[in-house]
Amino acid sequence: MKLYNTLTRTKDEFTTHEPGVCRMYTCGPTVYHFAHIGNLRSYIMEDVLDKYLRYDGYDVRRVMNITDVGHLSSDADTGEDKMLKGAKREKKTVMEIAKFYTDAFFADCAKLNIRTPDVVEPATSCIPEFIQMVEGLLEKGYAYVAEGNVYFDTSKLQEYYVFNKHDVEDLEVGVREGVEEDTAKRNKSDFVLWFTKSKFDDQELKWDSPWGIGYPGWHIECSAISLKHLGEYLDLHCGGIDNAFPHHTNEIAQSEAYIGHKWCPHWFHILHLNTNSGKMSKSTGEFLTVSLLESKGYDPLVYRFFCLQSHYRKSLVFSYEGLDNASVAFKKLIDRIAAIKNEGEVDTYAFSNLKKSFTDALDNDLNTALAVTALYDVLKAKVNGATKLALIADFDRVLSLSLIEKAEAAKMQKADDAAESAESGVDGELKAWIESMITERAEAKKAKNYARADEIRAELSAKGVTLKDTKEGTTYTIQ
Ligand code: AMP
Ligand code: ZN
Repeated sequence: MKLYNTLTRTKDEFTTHEPGVCRMYTCGPTVYHFAHIGNLRSYIMEDVLDKYLRYDGYDVRRVMNITDVGHLSSDADTGEDKMLKGAKREKKTVMEIAKFYTDAFFADCAKLNIRTPDVVEPATSCIPEFIQMVEGLLEKGYAYVAEGNVYFDTSKLQEYYVFNKHDVEDLEVGVREGVEEDTAKRNKSDFVLWFTKSKFDDQELKWDSPWGIGYPGWHIECSAISLKHLGEYLDLHCGGIDNAFPHHTNEIAQSEAYIGHKWCPHWFHILHLNTNSGKMSKSTGEFLTVSLLESKGYDPLVYRFFCLQSHYRKSLVFSYEGLDNASVAFKKLIDRIAAIKNEGEVDTYAFSNLKKSFTDALDNDLNTALAVTALYDVLKAKVNGATKLALIADFDRVLSLSLIEKAEAAKMQKADDAAESAESGVDGELKAWIESMITERAEAKKAKNYARADEIRAELSAKGVTLKDTKEGTTYTIQ
């Protein structure tokens, strides 16, 4: 499999340290608020990668942290802890906030068919490991204590800006944007490993340490948690592109300084989901969550389908129009699968030919859009139903769109509808017409074309059909 590597800036042949075993680390959520659908784009694409590696035969050992301490609102180590801000916002304790939003995160993941990593570790459970690592870095001369905090000394490294996309100027930008400079740092790019002094001295969670009572920096948690569960040779590290600098750059600096050799050869970064007005945000504009999409009537798996239709290395713009298109396409896809009759024996030759275009797509830098095309090719292929259904189930081990289950449910629904209309005496054609009118009316209302919406209601009323708008949608009765 060829997979783009941010470290080498090329599509590399993916290999692992121990053949057949993939040690994979994913930066987890900062649990101070709900995840927005941008965050979840990253987790969906990481899930596809995880599942495709398993599909490919790897024994994947995947670890994810939960950031429940130390992630400051400024990357320059001077902001307030996001967790504390969340706790203040909701007048709860940091641990209450962490529990609530960790549960909410996994509930969202479940709705999106995102598999929970093999190990999920909250940062607050690993304080002794962080302290041990900071002590090791001090002993080796890679860290120093200044004005109460422990800093990593980036001048001790041959190369700090490993991803090469960021340089000292990026840090200058931070300063221009009003980020206060930390005068205790020896070098501008140094970063905090352990805080005991911060102007935000109301930090709720603090632990004793050789340097005084304090709390860990954000970067140290991912290095220490990864080393704890996956050892000194990591194969694959993932995160959204904003994590590349400074977070992953700092992880590499401290992990390699600590273990004394190269740590992770492959870095997988997902480009951002943006809105029409720019960056996705939890505090300004519409806070786009899975629950919000559900409340607007969207199936969360439509959002997964929307994400799969574009490449993870291209930024993606979210719009309701785009989601509506995905919704219509997804429904049609399910209906087409529901119409396949499970006939004949699986044709193994055709199966492997059609499967090849799917694996070719994913082998080429996880091209999920082409993998979805390969799924449509199965629907069009001149093969029997049993082969088609077997291929769809096989592809869905990676795509995770619940294709077979949804098609079964659609079939049952169709049978129920038929039985219901036979009972009520409403013929299928009339029912279909009424439903198409209801859909058109909903669209007209959405487009604020109220005149057309009223016209449709009147047209239906003339045929004896009375509409009733409910929270779940529009229902009708026929006189
Ligand atoms: P956080 O909860 O802020 O630590 O972020 C969780 C994950 O979401 C990280 O891997 C981020 O890089 C990623 N992320 C943040 N914003 C976006 C976005 N707009 N689109 C895609 N991924 C994002
Ligand atoms: Zn991380």
